Amino acid sequence: MRFDLITLFPDMFAALRDQGVTGRAHARGLWSLGVWNPRDFTEDVHRTVDDRPYGGGPGMVMMAEPLARAVAAARAARHAESAEDPDRVPVVLLSPAGRRHDQRLAQRWARSSGAILICGRYEGVDQRFIDRHVTEELSLGDYVLSGGELAAMVVMDSVLRLLPGVLHDAQSAEQDSFNPALGGLLDSPHYTRPEVWDGVPVPEVLLSGHHAQIAEWRRRQSLALTLARRPDLLEAAPAKDEADGED
Ligand code: SAM
Repeated sequence: MRFDLITLFPDMFAALRDQGVTGRAHARGLWSLGVWNPRDFTEDVHRTVDDRPYGGGPGMVMMAEPLARAVAAARAARHAESAEDPDRVPVVLLSPAGRRHDQRLAQRWARSSGAILICGRYEGVDQRFIDRHVTEELSLGDYVLSGGELAAMVVMDSVLRLLPGVLHDAQSAEQDSFNPALGGLLDSPHYTRPEVWDGVPVPEVLLSGHHAQIAEWRRRQSLALTLARRPDLLEAAPAKDEADGED
């Protein structure tokens, strides 16, 4: 899998590339990263990537041309690496107006070969670039970030941890919250040593070694937690067969 980022802040992505689970996976070659700064695709001495909005108003808007050139460079690099059809790679804009990212989308992306992600800044991106090049818009939620970089990293992290071999124990991703194959429930509570901490013991069933009873306890805890905190997830949960068959 390969992600290409179009960003004015390339250094931000070192966190994802070098740290933790995603860092180890990158070092093992399970995914690769291309980072393209629109400033490198400008021709003026100031390397200008933004300008004032037509019609007036506050802030600046990212210009279409440097973004378009950066996307072309990313497409060419992907093509050189994998013979992927450069015109078929998804070009995703992180945007408050996009479809809300969720676990189902993360699973879909995890079955793909990656994408080119556009990180907006300032007031946003010239609409003509979006209309010409962007195939999909993704939002993290109903709040405004200063730029698309953190949103892109959140999306990438949620996808990369689902790739085979990235997590030490593949089951841990399956048992995480929101897995459609398990009804989309929240995860159950976790406990570790010591057996009694600050006077509070670990639930007895977890010490029993009885796998069926432990699974049943965890399922009940998940259901109770989801009912208490996120009843909307229970209403939205598809039947298991439906979830298994979806892409
Ligand atoms: N003027 C825009 C609006 O009100 O919708 C906000 C622009 S924001 C300051 C700059 C960039 O941050 C956006 O172009 C987008 O790439 C990114 N961004 C902000 N909020 C986001 C969100 N909730 N999800 C994904 N990306 C977001």
